Order: sequence, then structure tokens, then C-alpha cells
Amino acid sequence: MDYAATTPVDQQVFRAMLPYFTEEFGNPANLYSLGLKAKKAIAEARQKIASVLNCAPDEFVFTGSATEADNLAIAGTARANRRAGNKIIISNIEHKAVLSVCKTLKKEGFEIIELPVQKNGLVNPEELRNILDEKTILVSVMYANNEIGTIQPIAEIGRLIKNFRHKNRPHPKPYTINPVGYPYFHTDAVQALQFLDCDVNKLGVDLMTISSHKLYGPKGIGGLYVRRGVNIEPIIYGGGQQRNLRSGTENVPAIVGFGEAVALAQKNKKAESARVKKLRDKLEKGIFHSIPKVVLNGHPTQRLPNFLNISILDIEGEALLLYLDERGISVNTGSACNSQSLEPSHVLSALGNPYECIHGSVRFSLGKGTTISDINYVLRKLPPIVARLRKISPLNLKLGKKEKVSEPKAFVGGQTPHFLLKKK
Ligand code: PLP
Repeated sequence: MDYAATTPVDQQVFRAMLPYFTEEFGNPANLYSLGLKAKKAIAEARQKIASVLNCAPDEFVFTGSATEADNLAIAGTARANRRAGNKIIISNIEHKAVLSVCKTLKKEGFEIIELPVQKNGLVNPEELRNILDEKTILVSVMYANNEIGTIQPIAEIGRLIKNFRHKNRPHPKPYTINPVGYPYFHTDAVQALQFLDCDVNKLGVDLMTISSHKLYGPKGIGGLYVRRGVNIEPIIYGGGQQRNLRSGTENVPAIVGFGEAVALAQKNKKAESARVKKLRDKLEKGIFHSIPKVVLNGHPTQRLPNFLNISILDIEGEALLLYLDERGISVNTGSACNSQSLEPSHVLSALGNPYECIHGSVRFSLGKGTTISDINYVLRKLPPIVARLRKISPLNLKLGKKEKVSEPKAFVGGQTPHFLLKKK
């Protein structure tokens, strides 16, 4: 129940990778045939990915992770375009790979604007439009959030950015081929790629981050689409591989696996989306039916088909996680990166959820291995665990006579959180 954290490598992907560990171990930079075979394998993988993103193969660069791709997209364009402006706009629910590199850029003199999302987790394009100005060089809004699965209106944002730069910010070097004006538009599509259309031209994005291990490919490989004409500098220096944008000998087996995984995901996109949505909806209905005081986090419909993030009031998410784990059920409280700390999730905080609610949050994310009997199993195991935890919970507040429930403003799904109490 935690496929958003990572996925197992698909057997077909695994088989495609195998020869490149042993017989076909060449360095793609070498000119003899062993090297050329590795080079060809990379070219084929790049082509598979480019056809899904609808870009030219040389507009895609492989990186060691999506974290690195996010860093390259943001630091690489910010530093290369410093003279054109110093303002970067991101949403306040971005992955830490984006938030952290922005923190570093702030120290280098960049102005970082975190655009707050609405209570349903969506960016308001109108609000974004209002803060674009002559200094803005980059906008980064993730396609689908990794904690709540909320899908942002990327195509709409892409259109408004295009309009803005057409009117206000033509490229300073109009003589370059395919000039791209400011601001550039980056999206982190790591969670989206498996389920949504990631055609960079339809979406109007100039930079797109993707990852392999979220869609049944190997870990340690990701990549960045960079539109031709975007001015970007590397963040890793060395032998000048991948047109100088990402030095380092390419991880050939992982690249081959990544290409295969992307092609496979594309082939199964429609059917798999419909299948997991059905299961997710059953899980959601079952939980809301059998457990009182549950709140849905994020947008109820603008959401990835495999995501369900809820807050079960009056309990601690970590305790629930451990109880479920004992029964062979893996869930997460917020993102995988967060589970080591007790810091409340920045995404759920950004929705305006109170601290107590965030701590009872659980993320279910379904995948290829999830079956109807898994859903039934969770629906059998979850309610008694919640009842038990609530019995011993210090958070289990009772409604007093002098108290009334405040407006459930911070929530979607029509549920009233019982602990949001207002003194009369
Ligand atoms: N961006 C998003 C939205 C993610 O969900 C993740 C993974 O958790 C990442 C970036 C980082 O990906 P990677 O593990 O490939 O570095």
C-alpha cells in the first residue's frame, strides 16, 4: 500500500537490464564495438522516453535520481540566467528536492517565492499570474503531489506563462535557435508519469523531472527534459558526458531499465489507471463507512487514481503504521523522506490542517501488485486497530457542553473534525 515510495522492478525490465551488467559492460564513451553497443542501448532508452514526453531525444538528460534532476533544473537554470533576474516561484507543497535546492539558492541571492496552495491542495493559476514579474526567471510547480496525489493544472499554468512571456519577457537573445523567454516553467512529474499524459508540448513545460523507481524501473536513475533553447548550466563537472550537462559515465543497465519501464508504463497507462482507481475508491468508501472521524486530505477528484491520504482523528499515524506493519500492510504517514522524523508534513500543513490532524495522517498508494483481496484485508484489519489506538489516545477529546465544533474550513470531504473546538 505504499507504491508512491517505490516499486519493485518489473520482470520484463529486469530481463532487459541483465546483459548490461555482464556481457555488454562497455563504457559508452569508448569507440570500439563494446562501447558502441552501450552507447546504442542508451540511445534506444532515450528514444523510448522521448517518445512518451513528445520531445527530441537530445532534450533529455539522465541523472542519478529525480532529486538530482530537480536540483539540476532549478540550480542549473537559476545560476545560468542570473543576469536576467533573481526571482524563482515554487508552490509550497513541492518535494524536498525542490524546496531544499531553493533554500541553497536563497543564500546565493535568489528571491524564492513559495506560492501557497488552496485548502484542496491546488495552486490557483490566477494568484500565480499576479506575482509573475520582470525579475521572474523560473516557475516550478509539481504535476502531482507525492503525499496527497493532488494534480495541478499544469497545462493551464503553462499557457499563462507562455502568454506572460510573449507579452513581457521575450528572450534576451532573439538570435538564438528556438529561444525560450522567461520565466522558464519546470514541473516535477515523478508521481504523475505512470498515470497522466506527460506530453511536454501539450503541458507547455520547459523542464520536466521524472524518476525510474516509481514506475517499476530500477532505483538510482532519473532524468530531466530540457527544452531546446533553455539556458542551463551543469551542477556536476567532469568528462563532459551528455552534452556537458551531466558528466559521469552513464549507468547503462539502469538507463536501459528506465527506458523499458517508461515504455511499459505508457502501454498500460489507461488500463492500470482504471484498475487502481476502482480499488482505491473501494478502499476509500470502506474506510469512511467503517471508521468515524476520518478526513480526506487533498482534492477529492483532481487526484492520482492510486492515492488516498486521510487523517484518522485522535490517533498517531506512526502508531498505526507500526500496527499495520505487524499485519503485513505497508503504509506511510506523509512522504517516505518524512517518515524518519516526527516533523509534521509540510504538505498537510500547507493545506491548513491542524497539527493533531496531520499526526493522524496515513497515505495509501496502490500499485500493480494490489488486488481486491488486499483491499478487503486492509478493510478488515484497519477498524479494530483504530478503535484500539483511540481507546488509549490522549488526543481523544470529548465535546464539552460549552464548546461547539468550528467550521470545517480546512477540510474537504464534508467531514467535521471533532477536535476543532471553539470556546463559546
Ligand atoms: N519528486 C517527487 C514528487 C517524488 O515523489 C520523489 C520521490 O520520493 C522525488 C522527487 C525524488 O525522487 P528520487 O527518489 O528518484 O530522488
